[in-house]
Amino acid sequence: MNISVSPGACAAPVLKERGQREVFCGLTGIIWLHRRMQDAFFLVVGSRTCAHLLQSAAGVMIFAEPRFATAIIGERDLAGRADLDDELDRVVGRLLARRPEIKLLFLVGSCPSEVIKLDLGRAAARLSRVNEAGVRVLAYSGSGIETTFTEGEDACLAALVPEMPDTAPGAPASLLVVGALPDTVEAQFRSLLSQAGIDRIDFLPQRRLAELASVGPRTRILLAQPFLAATAKALEERGARRIPAPFPIGIEGTTLWLEAACRAFGIDPAIVSKLAEAPKARAAAALERARSALAGRSVFFFPDSQLEIPLARFLAREMSMRLVEVGTPYLHRQHLAEELAMLPPVQISEGQDVDLQLDRCHAARPDLVVCGLGLANPLEAAGIATKWSIELLFSPIHGYEQAADLANLFVRPLARRAMLEV
Ligand code: SF4
Repeated sequence: MNISVSPGACAAPVLKERGQREVFCGLTGIIWLHRRMQDAFFLVVGSRTCAHLLQSAAGVMIFAEPRFATAIIGERDLAGRADLDDELDRVVGRLLARRPEIKLLFLVGSCPSEVIKLDLGRAAARLSRVNEAGVRVLAYSGSGIETTFTEGEDACLAALVPEMPDTAPGAPASLLVVGALPDTVEAQFRSLLSQAGIDRIDFLPQRRLAELASVGPRTRILLAQPFLAATAKALEERGARRIPAPFPIGIEGTTLWLEAACRAFGIDPAIVSKLAEAPKARAAAALERARSALAGRSVFFFPDSQLEIPLARFLAREMSMRLVEVGTPYLHRQHLAEELAMLPPVQISEGQDVDLQLDRCHAARPDLVVCGLGLANPLEAAGIATKWSIELLFSPIHGYEQAADLANLFVRPLARRAMLEV
């Protein structure tokens, strides 16, 4: 595939907004992280609101033995009349006695735990010492104060980095793919990259604590998600080096991502392109059907998941959609440099002033808006089709075999709106 990289949107001025925001908190990440880390448990130390958020976001889990829960901070605790450390120790002790399969316990901070300045890092260190049975206890914040919901994954993975052992001296170079991916997607990437000749490939997060990769100066990291700034920084501080690449979204992004990995290991990128011919052809045929529904339609992104720029690049370049505005909560220019170079010229906005952005959206009357749950209903009521950005984290969207499913996530709201208008 020949992929041309034009000056694109990287040269365009970015509209920076610092007003009222409409975003979900980082607790949401637990829903996809717990599926990936199969011997981990997430204990949110929070309020009934946090418990409701988790339960409604993961309603189906009610039928399974859950691997997340909320330790609710009661009114006595908030008034400072209870010894929270003792209560937390009791809750954790009961949990670990009942669930011996847990090997990794995350204490997840929330707005209430941060407001009362509960030191979960200290609690995690204390509980790790007490639980000599090999349960590792770590802490990170999923609080909603000034964050966006994908930051929960970033904070969780960054908390894992200090746990990664150092690579042995003289160990061969290794590839570390960073970002939670469904098992099927991981298997596809692993197969292509190992057939191309990369011998040592690890994934973060790992499925089991015992599989946690080592890290060191010979580790090359390949980000699978664009929202992992803190994790990448923590890995770089351990000596690892990031491979610059766009993200593996759509045929184009996946090809460039795989090729970048090969180049970093001195492997001719044509090898992986050749290996990927069959999945690429399948993806191209499946995307053709979606393209007829999306081509020429306009799309407006509100800032929510931090996936907005790679998604906009995919919709514009592979689905021929028209970009109106691409909003992102944060713009990490370094991690997104390759994406920005490929994005057609468009208004990019960073941060949010929701009323002003809604005014721009209503004035533009886009065919489709990608936004958080809080904005979807009012926009639908105003006759605009919407796609919840959170669905893009719950669905497998990376790689060749998932490209058509990704495109269809955008086709469906347009089809539904067309039916409503008949
Ligand atoms: S925003 Fe804060 S209080 Fe609300 S669910 Fe998230 S962590 Fe809990």
